[in-house]
Amino acid sequence: MKVLVINCGSSSLKYQVLDMTNEELLCKGLVERIGMDGSVITHEKVGAEGKFKLETPMSNHKDAIGHVLNAITDAGHGVVTSMDEIGAVGHRVVHAGEKFASSVLITDEVKAALTECIDLAPLHNPPNLLGIDACEALMPDTKMVAVFDTAFHQTMPSESYIYAIPYEYYEKYGVRRYGFHGTSHRYVSERAAEMLGKKYDELKIITCHLGNGASITAIKNGKSIDTSMGFTPLEGLVMGTRSGDLDPAIVSFLEEKEGLPQGGANNILNKKSGVLGISGVSSDFRDLMEAANGGNKRAKLALDVYVHRVKHYIGAYVAELNGVDAVVFTAGLGENSKEMRELICTDMDYLGIKIDPAKNAVRGKEAVISPDGAAVNVLLIPTNEELTIARDTFEIVSAL
Ligand code: ADP
Repeated sequence: MKVLVINCGSSSLKYQVLDMTNEELLCKGLVERIGMDGSVITHEKVGAEGKFKLETPMSNHKDAIGHVLNAITDAGHGVVTSMDEIGAVGHRVVHAGEKFASSVLITDEVKAALTECIDLAPLHNPPNLLGIDACEALMPDTKMVAVFDTAFHQTMPSESYIYAIPYEYYEKYGVRRYGFHGTSHRYVSERAAEMLGKKYDELKIITCHLGNGASITAIKNGKSIDTSMGFTPLEGLVMGTRSGDLDPAIVSFLEEKEGLPQGGANNILNKKSGVLGISGVSSDFRDLMEAANGGNKRAKLALDVYVHRVKHYIGAYVAELNGVDAVVFTAGLGENSKEMRELICTDMDYLGIKIDPAKNAVRGKEAVISPDGAAVNVLLIPTNEELTIARDTFEIVSAL
């Protein structure tokens, strides 16, 4: 069965087609500027020379999906002769609240439940739902599956997800920790068990997803027991432009001092903070490292604060797990920056966490980077959320 994976944002959309008989990636692409001037689709067929690019008006997500279907069925750069060859579509959906703890076949009831979650993810769930509606309109007979960022973390115990605020806000509004990046944390932790030749449900694993957004998860016997992102993706680690943890009293203090409009502090904490806010240089770690190496003190400070927060969480999660078998690094920074992995793992030997510099000199490929015989395995595992979405979709649709 061939599966189309769709990850729909408000003005962009990523897609892949995978052949699930051998989990082979056939093509991938990106649509940008949906509903704006300059809408463009960039499509890449695996094994073919170059990329196909088409700039053409796309006023909504249905137009965009229409161009995706044209691209994947095209006689030249396509990967199927007709849409009948696509057995199912897997959709990435950000927020399922407490409604779903695993991926599900999309039905009208599921869509209604996701619509109820819009309050919890006002920026993400609406475009995810638009993507589902557009696919349903263009492929009315194709089965579709929703795979949620929050689902993996639904196993957290209440002491991990309840905030110490009046309990009625949890009951009335669902204010609690949900956690995100669940598909990535699940994929890399399962892969870690496979790479180590150990049983997934007998391991204590800490997964560090360090990309533009960043989160860290404690996984015990195959279940997420705590994660750093919270009610929204703002909590936890320092990120490119997000603050992560801070004293909540800072919000009202800044609103008063700066005369911020409603939502102004939220905007600052999401878009102008993190390593960008501290350094004033960039949210991209390559720029920061270059600036820090060139003597920029605030860029160096931003990196120091970033590393400090990751260490803080690793320590906390070792305590919560009562030990750790493996620490995994993934996503843009975790996969590509040996410097960052080394900085994080320096002076962690009390916990048994060490890196072998020679093994750590690797980018973007699976590797065990701790010394042979180390108490804790440190691993680099490139994440693959699309493959996880395709696997769940294939499994659910095959079982129908
Ligand atoms: P997203 O959360 O948008 O999916 P990614 O996982 O692609 O993000 O991570 C993007 C980030 O990874 C960039 O902002 C950049 O800081 C970092 N990154 C990518 N490559 C490198 C590298 N070679 N060295 C340091 N940082 C890198």
